[in-house]
Amino acid sequence: MSEPTPPTIERGSVAVVTGASRGIGKAVAIALARAGADVVCTARSTAAAPSKLPGTIDDTVRDIEALGRAALAVPCDVSNDAEVEALAQATLDRFGRIDLLVNNAAVNTWAPFAEMPMKRWDLVLNVNLRGVVVCTKAFLPHMIERKAGRIVNVSSGAAVDLKISAELGIIAYSVSKIAVETLTEGLALELAPNGIAVNCLRIEMSVATEGARFLNPEVDYSDWETSEGAADALLWLATQSPGY
Ligand code: NAP
Repeated sequence: MSEPTPPTIERGSVAVVTGASRGIGKAVAIALARAGADVVCTARSTAAAPSKLPGTIDDTVRDIEALGRAALAVPCDVSNDAEVEALAQATLDRFGRIDLLVNNAAVNTWAPFAEMPMKRWDLVLNVNLRGVVVCTKAFLPHMIERKAGRIVNVSSGAAVDLKISAELGIIAYSVSKIAVETLTEGLALELAPNGIAVNCLRIEMSVATEGARFLNPEVDYSDWETSEGAADALLWLATQSPGY
């Protein structure tokens, strides 16, 4: 049987991917570029200010440019409203449009609920939920004006598997992700008349990202999903007809 044809994106389309310095976000940015999009890569880690974890948005931009597509690295903390506004402005200044926003950036923190400091609870909700809201609001006026656009949010099986969530001490993460799913459904209904498609990819398998491998090198990742597998699923979702 022949391999299925990979989805393509109209040349000149512009995608913004949050959390594109490593992991699934990086793989998504590269998959979108391979499919034909120009990509704005955003996260906090840059060549000038790297994290202890592998990967920067400058690395991802270099990989995309090597594929012959245009890319722009914009440092941005999605929990900082002013930085998100600057991200939207930098995107429109450079490319003049946005066709696809991928809200992928997220953090997790592990502790039983009773022991979790409010600072860590707030961080998870601020990045994973409020970050999605602020990024979406920053790019929506442009999409509404053009009566076109797509938004894909990234959720997790932990949104609905509360047994695992409680065992691992990641209730804050679960709350943020189920809220992202509810936000997605509400926005999809509200924005459909504007020609804007809003979808959510719930990743139900564990994905062996560079971050996971770096932090827990002793784990056997042989039966984990790859970042590229998750990126393929996101690319499929992002290339369905707008009514999907
Ligand atoms: P990851 O390797 O930890 O990468 C997270 C990305 O988000 C990084 O690029 C990080 O970049 C960025 N980020 C974190 N905080 C940020 C902030 N405040 N502002 C901007 N960017 C920020 O994560 P991943 O495993 O690839 O996960 C990607 C998405 O898939 C997340 O939404 C996650 O919930 C979901 N997911 C993952 C799995 C899995 O098994 N890996 C399973 C289900 C769902 P900087 O540190 O450079 O800012």
